[in-house]
Amino acid sequence: MTFKARGPVQPAGNRGTELATTFQYDVVIIGAGPAGMCAGMYAGRSMLNTVVLERGFPGGELLNTEVIEDYPGFEHVLGHELAQKFADHAAKFGAEFRNGVVVESVQKRPDGMFEARTESGDTFVSKSVIITAGGTPIKLGIPGELEYAGKGVSYCAICDGAFFRGHTIAVVGGGDAATEEADFLTRYAEKVYLIHRRDELRASKILQQRLFANPKVEVIWNSVVDEVEGDEQGLVRNLKLRDVLTNESRDLAATGLFVFVGFRPNTGIIDGHVDHDDMGYLRTDANMHTSIRGLFAAGDVRSQLTRQVTTAVGDATTAAIAAEKYLKALADGDPDEPIEGTGGYTA
Ligand SMILES: Cc1cc2nc3c(=O)[nH]c(=O)nc-3n(C[C@H](O)[C@H](O)[C@H](O)COP(=O)(O)OP(=O)(O)OC[C@H]3O[C@@H](n4cnc5c(N)ncnc54)[C@H](O)[C@@H]3O)c2cc1C
Repeated sequence: MTFKARGPVQPAGNRGTELATTFQYDVVIIGAGPAGMCAGMYAGRSMLNTVVLERGFPGGELLNTEVIEDYPGFEHVLGHELAQKFADHAAKFGAEFRNGVVVESVQKRPDGMFEARTESGDTFVSKSVIITAGGTPIKLGIPGELEYAGKGVSYCAICDGAFFRGHTIAVVGGGDAATEEADFLTRYAEKVYLIHRRDELRASKILQQRLFANPKVEVIWNSVVDEVEGDEQGLVRNLKLRDVLTNESRDLAATGLFVFVGFRPNTGIIDGHVDHDDMGYLRTDANMHTSIRGLFAAGDVRSQLTRQVTTAVGDATTAAIAAEKYLKALADGDPDEPIEGTGGYTA
């Protein structure tokens, strides 16, 4: 299948209606990662007039992932192949994809409708919005980091840890994520160096105690990674470290570098207050409903324990079905009616 090109919307069938540069839908989904594509599939299948707005191409973080080995039913699948399968499936059920559309703001109007404004000036008006904009791991910005991403450099221990069985690897960071993941990675790696630019960690005391008690972990204090170096096969082999106090450089032979210096949820587009946690992730109820009625959130953008493809699609399933129930309540003239499940199955 080819993704639908951006252009005027046909006013027939399950398509939006063009009013100058304003388009109208039942549901606007922002972001075509796993969550957005899955929400699109369910919303389309429910015969809702649905558009998925994506600033790039459908796939989200799947497009930055070489191989996925923990999506049930797929023991080994390339990230971009899984992305294409998701997109094909959503399109088959009628979700419309608009690629290269950067959403700049989403606002709930006094009349209860949502307005998503885009960089190009178009406006998408809808009764409901599902935000699946994910987030971005913060990069170190050093030479070799992007070149070796997926070839030794990683931002996800649970995703990539198993590729480093018996290896010597390094983790960068000093917060909870770096500390917890360094400890976790010793399940696979023979040796894990935690590299931190200060002389103490910011992580909670319990995580620090666990880390310091782990004989496979060694902390390298007051140091930063200046460069990632690889071999002729294009895999990470060496890290150039620098002591920030003495300015002395040295080599660390490592085949992996896990970077945990923060993750930025893409929530800045929401105009108006919406409930979020300390890190900026959107808080939802069990139906993926945010504190703004009619605005749902799913996937990495949501405050939750873990961020995986499986959790993204699980969230998205709930969000799309909850959005459908919300639209039904709206049509019945009772937009404040609680969204309740039957506890049963959808056909
Ligand atoms: C390097 C790496 C490897 C990973 N490996 C695995 C793995 O092996 N297994 C696993 O289960 N999980 C893995 N993950 C995690 C997994 O990829 C994510 O949990 C999952 O992609 C989350 O899906 P999502 O749809 O919520 O967000 P994303 O995949 O982040 O998708 C969000 C989408 O929203 C779009 N977007 C954002 N802002 C806007 C805007 N303003 N306007 C329009 N579009 C916008 C983005 O372009 C993006 O396409 C990995 C993550 C990383 C970073």
